[in-house]
Amino acid sequence: SAKRHGRNHDQRFRPSLDVAGDRQLALVNELRTALAKGTQLELHYQTQHTLGNGALVGMEALLRWRHPEHGMISPGDFIPLAERHGLMSSLGSWVVERAIAQLASWRIAGMAEIPVWVNISALQLIQGDLEARLAACLAQHRVPARLLGLELTESVLLDERAGDIYPRLEALRALGHQIAIDDFGTGYSSLSYLKRLPIDKLKLDRAFVRALPEDSADAAIVGAVLTMARGLSLEVIAEGVETTEQRNFLLHHGCPLVQGFLFSRPVPAAELEARLLKEPQPI
Ligand code: C2E
Ligand code: MG
Ligand code: MG
Ligand code: MG
Repeated sequence: SAKRHGRNHDQRFRPSLDVAGDRQLALVNELRTALAKGTQLELHYQTQHTLGNGALVGMEALLRWRHPEHGMISPGDFIPLAERHGLMSSLGSWVVERAIAQLASWRIAGMAEIPVWVNISALQLIQGDLEARLAACLAQHRVPARLLGLELTESVLLDERAGDIYPRLEALRALGHQIAIDDFGTGYSSLSYLKRLPIDKLKLDRAFVRALPEDSADAAIVGAVLTMARGLSLEVIAEGVETTEQRNFLLHHGCPLVQGFLFSRPVPAAELEARLLKEPQPI
């Protein structure tokens, strides 16, 4: 939590916003070193649950940078920096490899097999060898692809530099991966791609969840997305669920899955393990 890391949210260090050019370059170099050494970077895991009985059905891996002077830095603050300075593709590879290694060690420890979802950036897809990298890393760690879900944003799906995305997604699914559209509803794309693209899940952006149930426009949008997704046989997971009122609205409107601070914040792997050992999940 924010407190434990000795800083509160409002005072947090935001390199992409507050920091002058030369300081930013220094940070980029620090990030490069952290990547090369494999230190300071961590994945935290946020649980995903069925809304009906609260069963644990997945976890999202979220990148953190534990900076020696600035404390924990959020991805929203350093990913833009990494993108601007050509570090995003190594950062993305680090995330994928760390998540797969974590899945492998959980398997070896005999933990229940819960899929881990990683965020995939546009650059990782544009590079073109994502499929091969994933397959090699999974094989090396003896982890089945069905345990590694891929979250892509609409902007990634529509980025022309990624080539024809349709066969790529088909190939990833043929390998066994599940694919989710992240931050659904916030992009500028047409709905027609939902009919066409081979995907499994929509992650309803928390912008639509935040003001539930009072905001009648958001309530209408969420209801409509849920109905549409059912018709298209897509699962929906609502992001950013913080209150029981939001949860109850979603339950009442047939949302199958949820993720949010009401259930769990993103936590380090060790903390998650301790929690799972204490209260075995209904799976
Ligand atoms: P995202 O993929 O949409 O991830 C969900 C974000 O919402 C996370 O922020 C999470 O901590 C936050 N969140 C979850 N539940 C709640 C809630 O109930 N209330 C509120 N207020 N927030 C909630 P985080 O970890 O700061 O990540 C921000 C974004 O950074 C992510 O959004 C994702 O786009 C990007 N990101 C994070 N890790 C990676 C990564 O490994 N690779 C890439 N390419 N992007 C990443
Ligand atoms: Mg995500
Ligand atoms: Mg999201
Ligand atoms: Mg989001």
